[in-house]
Amino acid sequence: MSGHRLIVVEDDPELRALVTRGLEEEGFTVTAVGDGASAITAAHEAVDALVVDVGLPDADGRDVCQALRAQGIGAPVLFLTARDAVTDRLAGFSAGGDDYLTKPFHFDELVARLRALLRRAGADPVTTVGPLRLDPTTHAASAGDLEVALTPTEYRVLAALAARPGVVLRRRDLVRAAWPEGAIVHDNTLDQYVARLRRKLRALELELQISTTHGVGYRLG
Ligand code: CA
Repeated sequence: MSGHRLIVVEDDPELRALVTRGLEEEGFTVTAVGDGASAITAAHEAVDALVVDVGLPDADGRDVCQALRAQGIGAPVLFLTARDAVTDRLAGFSAGGDDYLTKPFHFDELVARLRALLRRAGADPVTTVGPLRLDPTTHAASAGDLEVALTPTEYRVLAALAARPGVVLRRRDLVRAAWPEGAIVHDNTLDQYVARLRRKLRALELELQISTTHGVGYRLG
């Protein structure tokens, strides 16, 4: 289950709906838009990668990519292009794009390319849920001006919950996400981590909290 957040920018409504539905079935969270301006607006929310049609009604997809880079948005871009000229490919890459796919394409190919891009980008992006921000480099959790330090394990537990806000994660999935493979983690150990994370979230003055679903696991919401 990937949980990565994608923006699909495609002006052809049928293709947009098809791609969106397929990617959602693959476990991605998808924001679908039909023009460049909407794509740039959408990209100011957390995004892990973008699928950008080169031929958009209001802009060239490569200009959209350049605008994103200029605004400090570094998420990888997969271009969809009807053209296959070498010059077009080069222009795409120099605009900060990371890969391209020529239409018509096989959906499986799109998914494979996206997963490869996400892997290369480091599948550990900054995670945000509402005002909560989790920094994978510093392991800090912050909201506005408030910040708390998390241990690496606390960070991984919270990041796993934050990757799927509102969804109950099973205890064993949290353990798998946060501890090394094969580690023996008792139920009360996970409970202690969750208790500490609850205190830290309260210190950030968030309404967001970790709730318990008895016999199942935990959810952030
Ligand atoms: Ca188009």
